[in-house]
Amino acid sequence: MPKNQHRRVGYAYNPTYTRLADLLPSNVGRATLVDDLIQSYDLITRCDDIISPCLASKDQLTAYHDSKFISYLLNEEGVTYSDSDSKSESESHSNAESSLPHEDVDRRLQKRYGLEFDCPVFDGLGKYVQAISGTTIACARYLTARNSSKDAKQRVAINFHGGRHHASKAKCSGFCYVNDIVLGILELRKTFEKILYIDLDLHHGDGVETAFAHSNKVLNISLHRHDVGFFPGSGSSKFCGKGRGQNYTINLGLRSGLNDTSLRRILGDVIHPAFKRFQPDAVVLQCGADGLARDPSKEWNLSIRGLCSVIIDIIDFGKPTLLVGGGGYNHADAARLWCLVLGELLVGREATERWDMIPEGSRRIQEYASDGYAYFPDEVRTIDDLNTKDNFLDRIVENTKLRIAKIDHTT
Ligand SMILES: [Zn+2]
Repeated sequence: MPKNQHRRVGYAYNPTYTRLADLLPSNVGRATLVDDLIQSYDLITRCDDIISPCLASKDQLTAYHDSKFISYLLNEEGVTYSDSDSKSESESHSNAESSLPHEDVDRRLQKRYGLEFDCPVFDGLGKYVQAISGTTIACARYLTARNSSKDAKQRVAINFHGGRHHASKAKCSGFCYVNDIVLGILELRKTFEKILYIDLDLHHGDGVETAFAHSNKVLNISLHRHDVGFFPGSGSSKFCGKGRGQNYTINLGLRSGLNDTSLRRILGDVIHPAFKRFQPDAVVLQCGADGLARDPSKEWNLSIRGLCSVIIDIIDFGKPTLLVGGGGYNHADAARLWCLVLGELLVGREATERWDMIPEGSRRIQEYASDGYAYFPDEVRTIDDLNTKDNFLDRIVENTKLRIAKIDHTT
């Protein structure tokens, strides 16, 4: 098979990290599914480098996050969180008297820090947030380490278990406990002046937007489903950044039914022109898989090959690129997407075009049984792309072009 000639690809992997990433309550077990599929194509051994996952220190986490919030998440002495939710009823009852005052305090803190509803406390939370963040930071360092003239290849670093774009400075939100993307961008900024952040997740990348809304060094492009009552509610196309950061936030608030054709149009008419105008030194790409047609959210209608090809085309802009995962609640399809991305980078499209059935060697092959073990099941639904109605997408694209023209590429 052809060896990847012009890129150097690093994939963040070790089995302990996969198990820690598996703990995320909204996606229990997804990391194992992703890494198993990748291994069944023998892609780990084909990577140019394995990036060692590591645990972020408190100092690294507080480069963005609030110190007390992080102490609480890490379960540091004096700010312990109750794990009563994860204990059996009898265990909780037997500890009830001794732990009551702590629990009262804990409940208040948990509410303040957003540790409720879709972000419950879970066993291993501290290690989980350290691992996700430390690994995205390690990926950023993999990109910034390229300073030898002998190493002229484009570097691509991948942490598919990161991409927690909703977390804010002192609050968990939307299945995101800490914002590894913000931490990764801050790490990249130590070396690279200008960063282009692109968020392909179904949901608005509100946490990343807030972190860099005032910056003219981070151009933030998020395309997402946007409607009254649709999580997280932010991401209106009207918001374009604040102060010095004005015009450095581009939101494409989209309707339901987005298909491959519309996504490709956004790539050609918005993302690529913004890249050319801004001239970033590095790119960070959030590859959320919840816009895929069979995601339980049933909002967008993207195919695995369609979304993958847009991801690859963005990597082919040629800058050092950090890829992270994100949403994706049909775990098998998220695994198919991310494995295909890695496959195209390492063995090329000609080889992946021959991918047909999930390899028999996959330890999780039963997860694909309902699709007859097909790699590319019939995915897209016969629904309208409402973005193409009433010239909606035309208007968004035209407005965005005006915004892009205001980006000062000399900053
Ligand atoms: Zn999402």
